[in-house]
Amino acid sequence: MAKKIYLDYAATTPMDKEVFSTMKPYFSEKFGNAMSIHSFGQEALAAIDKARSALAEFLHATSAEIIFTSGATESNNLAVKGIIKSYQTQSGSQKRKPHIITTSFEHHCVLYACRSMAKEGLAEVTYVKPGKDGLIKVADIKRAIRPNTILVSVMYVNNEIGTAQPIKEIGKLIKLTNDQRPTTNHKIIFHTDATQAINYFDCNIDKLGVDLLSMSAHKIYGPKGVGMLYIRKGTPIRHIQDGGDQEYRMRAGTHNVAGIVGLGKAIELVTRNAKRETPRIKKLRDYLIKRVLKEIPKVKLNGSKIKRSPNNANFTFADVEGEGLILSLDMEGIAASTGSACSSGALTPSHVLLSIGLKPEEAHGSLRMTLGKYTTKQDIEIAVNKLKAVIGRLRKISGRVLSDYYSKK
Ligand code: PMP
Repeated sequence: MAKKIYLDYAATTPMDKEVFSTMKPYFSEKFGNAMSIHSFGQEALAAIDKARSALAEFLHATSAEIIFTSGATESNNLAVKGIIKSYQTQSGSQKRKPHIITTSFEHHCVLYACRSMAKEGLAEVTYVKPGKDGLIKVADIKRAIRPNTILVSVMYVNNEIGTAQPIKEIGKLIKLTNDQRPTTNHKIIFHTDATQAINYFDCNIDKLGVDLLSMSAHKIYGPKGVGMLYIRKGTPIRHIQDGGDQEYRMRAGTHNVAGIVGLGKAIELVTRNAKRETPRIKKLRDYLIKRVLKEIPKVKLNGSKIKRSPNNANFTFADVEGEGLILSLDMEGIAASTGSACSSGALTPSHVLLSIGLKPEEAHGSLRMTLGKYTTKQDIEIAVNKLKAVIGRLRKISGRVLSDYYSKK
């Protein structure tokens, strides 16, 4: 069997061996509970503190602003619901329903957290739409702001089309709005889901102007089931999970010590490797896009060509169905993903692709290929050649099916 080629780094990344070896002792001999005051506990706590410092350094934050969670899904839920719940508990706030601004192509964990708040009658939500290029316009966020807006949540890099949003500019807009607001008005809190941005983009929280930032370890060559929420000091946010006093009472539950240690090591490696890896990956990705657009007919690239993550390529192929494409590629040893998901027997087109104006059938014919630090030039050569062959084959079949259909009519 030929070597398998993994081009789905946006879904998850393989764990770096150095990360794994750093984590290992914390599953066995260093097994203490970080809340215990004996030496076993203190050893675990010291390891967590080290990871916390590494994250704080990466974000240019302080350790007390770093909250470990079970992943970006939890971080995003805590961000959205924690801000709304805090507002609800403030005196006088009951009179005015708070307003959230988010975008229509956020990850479902942000979209559904906002939707839950609306369903529970706790907030009003505006979903700002991206342009055809997959980019949110700062002016559209500005237009959506109301006197009762208390939270703006815009993702940094979209997980499907890889487009990078103008977070710094939105941060500036929110600061300006807050500076000009009457003191009786609640300040707007700015959250970004940076899950897909950490490997490739500047995440200095002051430069971005964010109050909250979410991330996940398994997208940066760390373990699954661990993530982080950065919370700027002084942000009015309430915990959403009750229990112990861990994580400055923001996130109850015994620490996932090994996972947190892994996340700390993974972030150190991002800092160490990014300068070298990012241009290499971008070059390979550009080569991939160039060949696909040139050598395969009836294809287009989804999302801005320039303002996108250096590891992301997302195409729509006419007359091809995404799931068939993924399965055929998988049989050829190529792992990628598509913009349609099979839920309860029906194909649901991606909300991201629909939000940038694709028709459902175009979303169904889409392919996301995401590269990473183990991707080689040879991988891309093989993947493009196989993709060409698979598309050709699938189009022949769909052509036959269609001509059979019309000849019988
Ligand atoms: N946000 C984005 C942008 C993501 O890509 C993902 C993972 N696909 C998540 C949130 C959820 O992360 P986790 O798997 O850590 O819950």
